[in-house]
Amino acid sequence: MIARDLIASAHIHRGEAEAVLAMVLGVDRAWLYAHGDDPIAKAAVDRFNELIHARREGKPLAYLLGYCDFWTVRLQVNQHVLIPRRETEHLVEWALEQIDAGASRVLDMGTGSGAIALSCKASRPAAQVSGLDSSPHALDCARENAIALGLEVDWLLSDWFSALSSRTWQLIIANPPYIAADDPHLLQGDLPAEPASALIGGATGMESLQHIIQHARDHLSDGGWLLLEHGFDQASAVRAALQEHGFCAVTTRADWSGHERLTGGQWTR
Ligand code: GLN
Repeated sequence: MIARDLIASAHIHRGEAEAVLAMVLGVDRAWLYAHGDDPIAKAAVDRFNELIHARREGKPLAYLLGYCDFWTVRLQVNQHVLIPRRETEHLVEWALEQIDAGASRVLDMGTGSGAIALSCKASRPAAQVSGLDSSPHALDCARENAIALGLEVDWLLSDWFSALSSRTWQLIIANPPYIAADDPHLLQGDLPAEPASALIGGATGMESLQHIIQHARDHLSDGGWLLLEHGFDQASAVRAALQEHGFCAVTTRADWSGHERLTGGQWTR
């Protein structure tokens, strides 16, 4: 079978089928356009069909490919980490603004694949970036990404703040799990295949956000900022929690689709 027909036979999104075939053949997608009439070896056809079958069964494309592009970096991902989402790039943008305003010690909590920490480090090499996760498997993934990208990040195994003693940072960022345990969205798209610990924030979805907000001030230096990603309907609750715990300049930002997605506040002693 030739490449073009093989892609058409997949009956999934064309771009996805191209990405899968490119991976199987070890070429980039541009190659496929120039070689659409090339016959594909049987072993490659079989492997392609196997992966397409898994995709149709609901396996996320990023896990099939083994990577995901985020910000300016290509990240390896596996079933132990959340697949980085486009919305989270807004959090990177805001973090970079804070780094440019003088925050040089930065902590990414619940780093997963290392997406936020590595993006910050890639864009602002002078910043001292730490990435924390409670999952050793996630940290292995983040560490491998750092090595592949040649970026130096301090990786910390910790259940939120529990292993941090009295260390402080000038900027703490987190895209924590924020979905309620019974939210039907958990059954849709890529979510059923992703780690529950990366998605579910507790019974109401607010538990991880609340925990971070409650304890972050013990780990922020004077004037430091806490920036959080949250669900589209959680902004007012996050603002209230930040204010209740003494944060000032509390601000919410919207994502590309206009949803209130990020909220941050400044800690002053
Ligand atoms: N920090 C990672 C990301 O934004 C993982 C977040 C998570 O697992 N909730 O992609």
